[in-house]
Formats: sequence, C-alpha cells, structure tokens
Amino acid sequence: MLLYVHVPFCVRKCGYCAFHSGPFSQEAAKLYVRQILLEMAGWGRVLGRVRLESLYFGGGTPSLLEPGQIEALLRAADIWFDLSPRAEITLEANPDSVLLPGFLDSVRSLGVNRLSLGVQSLQDDLLAMLGRPHDSAQARRAVHAARAAGFTNLSLDLIWGLPGQTLDRWMNDLAGVVELAPEHLSCYGLSLEEGTALTRKVEAGALVLPDEEIGARMYLEGSEFLESCGYAHYEISSHARPGRESRHNQGYWAGLDYLGLGPAAVSTIEGRRWSNPSAFEEYAEVVAKGEARDEVEVLSALTRRQEMVMLTLRTGAGLDLEKFKATTGTEFPWRHPAVEQLRSSGLVRLRAGHLQLTRKGMLVSNSVIEMVLGVLDRMHADTV
Ligand code: SF4
Repeated sequence: MLLYVHVPFCVRKCGYCAFHSGPFSQEAAKLYVRQILLEMAGWGRVLGRVRLESLYFGGGTPSLLEPGQIEALLRAADIWFDLSPRAEITLEANPDSVLLPGFLDSVRSLGVNRLSLGVQSLQDDLLAMLGRPHDSAQARRAVHAARAAGFTNLSLDLIWGLPGQTLDRWMNDLAGVVELAPEHLSCYGLSLEEGTALTRKVEAGALVLPDEEIGARMYLEGSEFLESCGYAHYEISSHARPGRESRHNQGYWAGLDYLGLGPAAVSTIEGRRWSNPSAFEEYAEVVAKGEARDEVEVLSALTRRQEMVMLTLRTGAGLDLEKFKATTGTEFPWRHPAVEQLRSSGLVRLRAGHLQLTRKGMLVSNSVIEMVLGVLDRMHADTV
C-alpha cells in the first residue's frame, strides 16, 4: 500500500495554485500533527499492519513541519503499518523552507530518502510572477544543501507554458536544472485553475500565455532534450535517470491501494474510494468519529477498467494488452477505425504488446485517452 500524508500549509499562496493549503502557524501545525497521528492510529487498527512500500509527504509545504514533527509521523507510520525498510519516503519541499540550518540533515537522518523540490523556474522574474516564496539562488542552494545532507534521490519540479516564458528561456531552464544533476524531473504545463490570481490576470489580459505552437515546442523539444541528457520520459510529465522513477507515482499508475491522511486527502482501498473533508474543523470531526465515512464510492468494474486504461496510458510503458485481455476478457480493439486513426496520426503506437502514447500523443493526452475510452465504452455497451 502507498501512504500519502497531506500537509495543508504554505507560507503564502502562489498565484497559480489550486491545491488545498492555508496559512502556516506553529499552533496550526501542532494541531494538525495531532490529528494525523489520531487518523493514522485509527486506520492502523482497521487495516492491520499493512506493508507500506511508499510514504509521501505532499502539500502544501511539508517542509514547514519541524523535524520533530516529521519524526513523530514517521514513527507512527512504523508502529501502525509495516513500513518497508526499502520504502521510498518522499518529502515535498519549497527551496526556501529547507535552508534552515540543520533541517535537511535532520530529515535525512530520520529516514526521508527522497526530496521533491518545487523549483518551478530558474528565472527570478518568472518566479516573482508566479508568486513563489523563493528565488533561483535559493533553489540552487537548496539542491546543494540536499546533496550535502546526503540526499541521493532528488526530484525537481518545473513549469512550462508560463506568461513571459519563451522557448529559449524554457530550454535555458532545462539546461540549468540538468547542470544541477537531479535524479528526477517533473515538468508540468501551466494549468489555469479557476479562481486563482494568475487566471484572473490572464483573463484580464494583464498576462499573456505563450501561443499554442510555442507551448507544444516547449513540451516536445524539452522532453527530447531531457532524454538526450539521460532522463527517460517515463510518464507524461515525468523524467528520470534509470531506476529513479517515482515509486509512489508508479504505484498510483499501477492501481495500487493508497491511504491518504490529512485534510482533502483521497484514499482508494479494495475498490472503495473516499475523500477527507478539506476544512480542518470538518476533517477533525471525521477523525474523531472514527474511520466510517459517509460517502464512499464503490468503484464499478467499468470504472476500474477505465482507470486502468487512463492511468497506464499516461506512462511510457503504456497499456499492456495481455493484461487488458486478462482483466476484461476481451481483446483490445486496436484495429478499430478510431484507434487506427490515432496510430496513423502518430499519436499512439503498438510496441511489444503495449499500446503507448507517442510524445506527440502525450502532448494531447487528454483527447487521445478520451478517444480510446470512448471506443472501449462503445464496445462495452455493445456487449451488455
Ligand atoms: S507552495 Fe505549492 S502548494 Fe503552496 S501555494 Fe505554492 S504551489 Fe500551492
């Protein structure tokens, strides 16, 4: 099983962010840790000492917690679950928040073995436009400090398609992060989320996005460049040195069970899915009531099949057609005219028994996956 712990605090809200997070205070963090410990104990009693292959502190900004608080959470995970000695333990962090003396040494010595740094850009004007709490010098210092603290598995997040970003500036950012030699890179296209400050500025014309063709080149040429530097493009937004793929995310894409703790966290266990309330007070009430949830979605066989197709098509390995047949009892309709059309347009390919999105297909993955699901849904409707 995968364990996700959502840490819902940030020093301030970035202009583009729609993740669930609120203002940080020492008091709020103490209260939060207490609730997570209660929630973890509750699930530990219900689920038994389930083997954990990955523990992921995401946010928000988990690096705002004190090492002592992270230690308490790790200890509890080891008590209530069977935390594998080989488990991947990731901490998401903002560059500015890991530079406090001793922080990185402490969390590394506690067993956190993977650090995911929200670098986003190496250009200060773009970081300021995004409302990030750090600058590029801090991002570089954070990488060096992580290495000095003994982290050998570093992931850096970057964003392409930003207002004011040109193709050259994006490629310079990529060259800059490659020089920092992380093991993993996540490159996300900017997504304009409803209600964010950045979206309002774009809608008002105060900020202008790069045009579609430039955005496409950022993705395609950027991914090619990273591959040429030894980072395999193993998922739509993810690149890694061999063997350094995110095991936690690979678990999601493979459909493993995951337990999410904290406000707004989602869990899926044995075909049942639920979400914690986002508001802290409501979340605390739910934890106090125990593990029963009012709203649990029971995933139908159809939903599970759709998710398997959707999630595996995100990955470089693609959809295993033998596995598809074993799961659904039917051959994948790869000779269907719509699938043929995707193939002849160079958006998907058949390789070693897997249906894969090409890089061009990954660029428009939502539409391609929607088309494939449409074909499968019609096939399903014809057989019932
Ligand atoms: S640090 Fe991350 S989670 Fe927090 S506001 Fe910025 S983008 Fe959102």
